[in-house]
Amino acid sequence: MEHPENQEEYKGLNVNSGVSQPPVVNPYMTRRKKRRMPGVDEIVSGILAGDITMLSRAVTLVESVAPEHQSVAQEVIEKCLPHSGNSRRIGITGVPGAGKSTSIDIFGLHVLKDGGKLAVLAIDPSSERTKGSILGDKTRMERLAVHPNAFIRPSPSAGSLGGVARKTRETIVLCEAAGFNNIFVETVGVGQSETAVHSMVDFFLLLQLAGTGDELQGIKRGIMEMADGIVINKADGDNIHRAQLAQAQFRSALHLFPPTASGWKPEVLTYSGYYELGIPEVWDMIDRYFEFVKANGYFEQKRLQQARYWMYETIDEQLRRHFYSNPEVAALLEQKEKRVLANLQSSFTAARDVLDLYFSHR
Ligand code: GDP
Repeated sequence: MEHPENQEEYKGLNVNSGVSQPPVVNPYMTRRKKRRMPGVDEIVSGILAGDITMLSRAVTLVESVAPEHQSVAQEVIEKCLPHSGNSRRIGITGVPGAGKSTSIDIFGLHVLKDGGKLAVLAIDPSSERTKGSILGDKTRMERLAVHPNAFIRPSPSAGSLGGVARKTRETIVLCEAAGFNNIFVETVGVGQSETAVHSMVDFFLLLQLAGTGDELQGIKRGIMEMADGIVINKADGDNIHRAQLAQAQFRSALHLFPPTASGWKPEVLTYSGYYELGIPEVWDMIDRYFEFVKANGYFEQKRLQQARYWMYETIDEQLRRHFYSNPEVAALLEQKEKRVLANLQSSFTAARDVLDLYFSHR
């Protein structure tokens, strides 16, 4: 803009026009090229070649809610399926502070000592609320995070627990196709996510703490029943004695449980993730479990059952989504909810009315 001071009325005064200032937003930022989306075959061949960047992009597609991403993701999964299955899938659970990240870091390094690759995935239903996943975060597993043969992926954050779990299950397929022969799936031992994890792993490891005085009460009985191994962490320093006491308590509690479907007797061990004590023993137990279930056919049987379970889970999830995303259903639901809350209509007739509306369009 020309300076007003240079006009006739300010004769004698001369103001030089200044240097033009750069824009507030860096123009190069807006001009940055949009990433080209690779085609299905390109993604699949990248994954099969063990290309981590391609694997990450495929996982992002799996996690995306955009329909165009979903259809590419499903095609990629379909093509990866014949190359999957060749891994040990291990679920790891424990309450916050039980030492999951410390333990996964050290367990991970232990399994990678013999070569192979490890993927650490997570199911964290709370991440939707906190808008950021706590589990599977790289910063929590310092040594694994920089290991060239480890792939750490935080929990998918969008959707229901069923949806989050399905995405993790699909990510397992992709990781296996990329040559990952060890898969850890981490979850917090406080809710229903354990059931979801249990339905996608071969071995379920429960991390426990000693010395809280209520070892057996602190964890839900259902979770204990799912465990193939219970490991009591922080068996170090003056905590060793308490850890051993807890070990004895867990062992006797397990005696009261019905025999497991696999025929395997869950074991209880103590270790210290922090001081790296007892780690080979934990892994020896897991090795023995795999030998045992592979020999008696349970390994294969369980994987088939899991495949069936996920078929029904996926159907349930898609039906629910289709139902709730229908705008007419949503509008009527809102009305009906008000009526039910005002005691003007019973839950059952209200539900029937909404369902009738939905099915009348079929
Ligand atoms: P998470 O919430 O289950 O992932 O637990 P973290 O791995 O973050 O561990 C919680 C706390 O327990 C951290 O302060 C760790 O340093 C500590 N911790 C973890 N493992 C051990 C262990 O074996 N012994 C001791 N003494 N402390 C541990």
